[in-house]
Amino acid sequence: LSLSKRLPGEFELIARYFAPLSAGFAGAFGLTDDAAVISPTAGHELVLKSDAIVCGVHFQVDDPADLVARKALRVNLSDLAAKGAEPRAYMLDLALPGTTDEAWVAAFAHGLAEDQKRYQIHLIGGDTDSTPGPITIAISAFGEIDAGRMIRRAGARAGDKIFVTGTIGDAAFGLRVLRGELRGVGATGAQFLIDRYRLPQPRVSLGPKLVGLATAAIDISDGLLADLRHICDVSELCARIEAQRVPLSEAARTALAVKRDLIALVLSGGDDYEILFTAPASVTAGVMQLSKNLDVPITEIGEMLPPSAQEEPVEAIDAAGRALQVESEGWRHF
Ligand code: ADP
Ligand code: MG
Repeated sequence: LSLSKRLPGEFELIARYFAPLSAGFAGAFGLTDDAAVISPTAGHELVLKSDAIVCGVHFQVDDPADLVARKALRVNLSDLAAKGAEPRAYMLDLALPGTTDEAWVAAFAHGLAEDQKRYQIHLIGGDTDSTPGPITIAISAFGEIDAGRMIRRAGARAGDKIFVTGTIGDAAFGLRVLRGELRGVGATGAQFLIDRYRLPQPRVSLGPKLVGLATAAIDISDGLLADLRHICDVSELCARIEAQRVPLSEAARTALAVKRDLIALVLSGGDDYEILFTAPASVTAGVMQLSKNLDVPITEIGEMLPPSAQEEPVEAIDAAGRALQVESEGWRHF
């Protein structure tokens, strides 16, 4: 099938741009077979995750193709990291409208190549289709973990402390900057926030080290409060966070200084791709040591509470101890 007049044929595209990305992974057979094979290391399990990004929803039509590719891969790596898994391989299902040209595919493949090197992961298969709709990129990522050790959402206990990596809210601010809805952060601040939106930094070095320390974990994609709520639901607990402890970048702090209400966007904006995890107070020193060793900022922001501790499953309180009213509990597609 020919995808479009502007593109080489499907098999030509696979051979030219995708097959080279499978080099070094024997079970990918150079993308010349119907399927691929993964042999997990003895005593390990595969951790599987898929995430699609759609033009017009998760990225914009004029976003650089290499960054789009890297974001598509990284949102999956972020989930693997939150589960404590080491990334190994991924598959790519690509649907391209007839308006796509070869330069876009070339830049896209180049972005994947860069991140493959960075994260030690290989492309092992996928599918390529034409679509009457927008560009859609579905990636499935496969990671490995010691059998039975995947960090679940469901393991939190009352009294556990709540931690987050990095800084929160930057990507949501970055999207507002791109839309022209957020000003007053300066040129450097604006660029920093846009970069945080376009290119997540999955915490792949940290994730596997959280096994044995974290009781529960989730990657923050829908928004801090919404994702913490997911942990509360399946762990059957409540959670309280102190808004003033939520770690902010300098640019985000500048934005908040202009408009205090933006704290709601920090707490519910999403696209952070940081890890939120819970752990007993007894391991806090270990967590902080890890943060130092790996040079990954980790901040304690609150505590898990018994199921009936408060009215709402998740509460954010201000410096005076008053519950903040945050309207949106995070991004939902439907
Ligand atoms: P099928 O006809 O069984 O769907 P294809 O001809 O679509 O197989 O694919 C041939 C090979 O190329 C398979 O190994 C498939 O996994 C791989 N492949 C196809 N599209 C992609 C892609 N976008 N990225 C990576 N591998 C791909
Ligand atoms: Mg196919």
